[in-house]
Amino acid sequence: MAQRVGGADVRVENLTAPGAEPHDLELTPRQVAGLATADLVIFQSGFQPAIDTAIPQASPKRTVDSASFLTLLAATDSDGRAGSAKDPHTWLAPSNLVTITEHVRDALIEARPAASQTFTANAAALIGELTTLDTDFRRGLATCAIRPFVTSHAAFGYLAHAYNLEQIAVRGLEPDTEPTAARIAEVQRLATANHVTTIFFETLVSPVVSESIAADLGLVTDVLDPIEGITADSRGTDYLEVMGSNLTALRKANQCS
Ligand SMILES: [Zn+2]
Repeated sequence: MAQRVGGADVRVENLTAPGAEPHDLELTPRQVAGLATADLVIFQSGFQPAIDTAIPQASPKRTVDSASFLTLLAATDSDGRAGSAKDPHTWLAPSNLVTITEHVRDALIEARPAASQTFTANAAALIGELTTLDTDFRRGLATCAIRPFVTSHAAFGYLAHAYNLEQIAVRGLEPDTEPTAARIAEVQRLATANHVTTIFFETLVSPVVSESIAADLGLVTDVLDPIEGITADSRGTDYLEVMGSNLTALRKANQCS
């Protein structure tokens, strides 16, 4: 969003390297120093502990914290129950990205008023694409034979909420924790009871558990990408493309017409 809205008038540096798993991000001293000198820092509090620690220390000139204006949903814990923690995976609902884009646009205009017209036009173009994506999801998932879908970790709560689907997550919010045998058994029971066709895995996490569940139940596996980092293995080169691939995968798995 920063690159699309800022265009040639900004220099964007990612705190999370492409392809790095973002939940357990660690910052280098240089990155922490950069927070203090940047014209704008875009982040989401409650997602990456290293950022939550560094921001108050660095006190950046200007921030956009998406957790300060989005409606956060309750997280699903590793037992599949709604917990007291908030789910950080806001970006998997395109409508949230529209809202964040508006805030990024306004913050960039404040930082660089001379480029106001460019930022406004760039933001409008991106919002148009995100709105089209949201419409594609809404229409594409309106009529599905199956509403639940099985994911590797509980990243898709916002997507499920936005499009009236139901997430069954093998793991909780943290992608790297290994699920218990009891949780795997429960996922298998739910998958069978709901006539699920596909066990989804993701590009940055080992597919071994997903493959084992699928093999036990005689189901197929496929990628549902939580877009926590785009690599050469991703099904697309940016958010819009990978979300398009996610829609295709969900429509197939959930038998949507
Ligand atoms: Zn995640």
